[in-house]
Amino acid sequence: MRNTPVIAFVLLTCIAVFMPLVAEARMGGAGGGGDSGGGDGIGALIFYILMMIPFPWNLVVIAILIVAFYIGKKKAKQRSILNSIPDPTKFSGKDNAVQLPGLDPESFTQKVKTAFVELQQAWAAKDMGKVRRYISDGMYQRLNIQFKMMDMLKQRNELTKIEVKGVYIDKAYQDGVNDVVHVAVHAVITDKFISDEFKQLASGGREEFVEYWSFIRKSGVAERDMYHSVNCPNCGGELPLDGGEVSKCPYCGTITNSGAYDWVLAEITQVDDYKSTNLLQDLSRNLGDRIAGLAEDYEGFSVQHIEDITSNGFLQIETARVLRKPEIMRRFVSNELYDRLTQEFENTAAFLYNRIFLTDVTLIGGLTDGNINKLTVSVKMAYQRVQINNGSLVILDASVSTQTRIVILSRDAKAQQPKASLYAHQCPSCGGTLGDTTDLQCPYCGSTLNSTMYEWIISDVMDVSNYTAYYKNNYNLFTAGIKPSKIDGLYKVRDYAFNNVLIMIAADGKFTDEEIEFANQIAKKWGYNTDKIQGMIEMARTGQLAIKMPEDVKDREKIYKLMEKAAHVDNHLDASEQALLDQVKREYLS
Ligand SMILES: [Zn+2]
Ligand SMILES: [Zn+2]
Repeated sequence: MRNTPVIAFVLLTCIAVFMPLVAEARMGGAGGGGDSGGGDGIGALIFYILMMIPFPWNLVVIAILIVAFYIGKKKAKQRSILNSIPDPTKFSGKDNAVQLPGLDPESFTQKVKTAFVELQQAWAAKDMGKVRRYISDGMYQRLNIQFKMMDMLKQRNELTKIEVKGVYIDKAYQDGVNDVVHVAVHAVITDKFISDEFKQLASGGREEFVEYWSFIRKSGVAERDMYHSVNCPNCGGELPLDGGEVSKCPYCGTITNSGAYDWVLAEITQVDDYKSTNLLQDLSRNLGDRIAGLAEDYEGFSVQHIEDITSNGFLQIETARVLRKPEIMRRFVSNELYDRLTQEFENTAAFLYNRIFLTDVTLIGGLTDGNINKLTVSVKMAYQRVQINNGSLVILDASVSTQTRIVILSRDAKAQQPKASLYAHQCPSCGGTLGDTTDLQCPYCGSTLNSTMYEWIISDVMDVSNYTAYYKNNYNLFTAGIKPSKIDGLYKVRDYAFNNVLIMIAADGKFTDEEIEFANQIAKKWGYNTDKIQGMIEMARTGQLAIKMPEDVKDREKIYKLMEKAAHVDNHLDASEQALLDQVKREYLS
């Protein structure tokens, strides 16, 4: 008891000196500067403690400080965006508190559950008819391009034992004239990719996962439940189940997926992409308010809507590229871009996508260039290419990889109110329904379809380094824009390397207990908290990760070196590891 004042003094001193010490150490670490001030500071501090605190308490304080310093350092090192990726097998979600007028969480999550099961069934059947009425056109194209590829590869994706474990609202907010809700879906599916012709494309298994579904709706509409009825929300007629590129009622002509009647599914994002692009998404939302004035839309401006037409147009370009049918993209792109792309198609060897999906589509800027308004949108694409040579399959990419492209949309500053959406295959000038042709003249009113007078037209597609230069050169024209350096996700060099090494471990198609052990060893060696990155390991085990790389070339080299090192650590480099290293070198380092 008689020591109480001394202990109190010791503790107070600890608190007083602990904070500045850690702050100083971290600053030194970040800056990497070698000035002697820091050393002197610590020396002075130790001297101060030795002199001011009686023996042996002074030594105790110093010991506590040293331990606290190293714990702090370890904790700081363990910090990573990868920690926020949940282990799906242990996931227990909850609704975040959201406030959005007119959003009834109960009935909303019920709709999501229905949509989830119906969409899996539609996907397995390669037929979107049953769900067409409530998915956006961009979402439709995301699935449609994959169906086209699967058909060419004689592939199907069998899905059985579909189980929705939970649906949780993550974010809900107003986006211009629209409401947007992002919801986490936790589910388990037995997922088998089968190709009748190319057996080596077989993949899949039992998969538990978390992904984020994004829904959009016009603010303040009286909801007609489109999820539990197949009837037209406008006239009540029974909608046909052959819904194609456009979701239009054959009786009254209403477009069912405009968001005017009910929530529309616009995007599906894997949990790792959702977490890593969180910052970019938030920046983009703030951007929307500033760009809205510039881009004053016919039905009001909405970031999610711009992202949807970008997804749609971008995938039309990729479909045109693979099928060698430039007419597919003709009306969505400017004449200059059309000429450039058709040239590009002719100069590259034919290939197919075994996988192609958009992992993130985000509005990143808006500018006025003369009489034209432009929007810039970052599109992150994951893909794996294959070739069919004389009937046999050549796998071009050992693993699914990601690349970022910047899409530029252009429209006249004094644009006219369009009668209908070009991206829904309608003439913006007269509203007439368009057939699948290369014709740029509307058959009804004769107006030019890819005119920037009404609709946003894709005028350029560039990589991030070209966009960085573009942003710099046109900086004064931008009304608002996110710095190009922010386009990369929240991953750090180590996170990219770990993600890619996990894919390398899984590249032989198996993920044995030894390999899980190996993954944990690397995690520990690289300073991760192994408890917190099990989500990543589980995603790797079930084949849900894609190769990711930052834009910075030096960082790419560092990541490649770390991957190489990890591949050699078990003293033998197998063919699948080598193939993946070769792919990374080819795709990102040349
Ligand atoms: Zn109708
Ligand atoms: Zn027309």
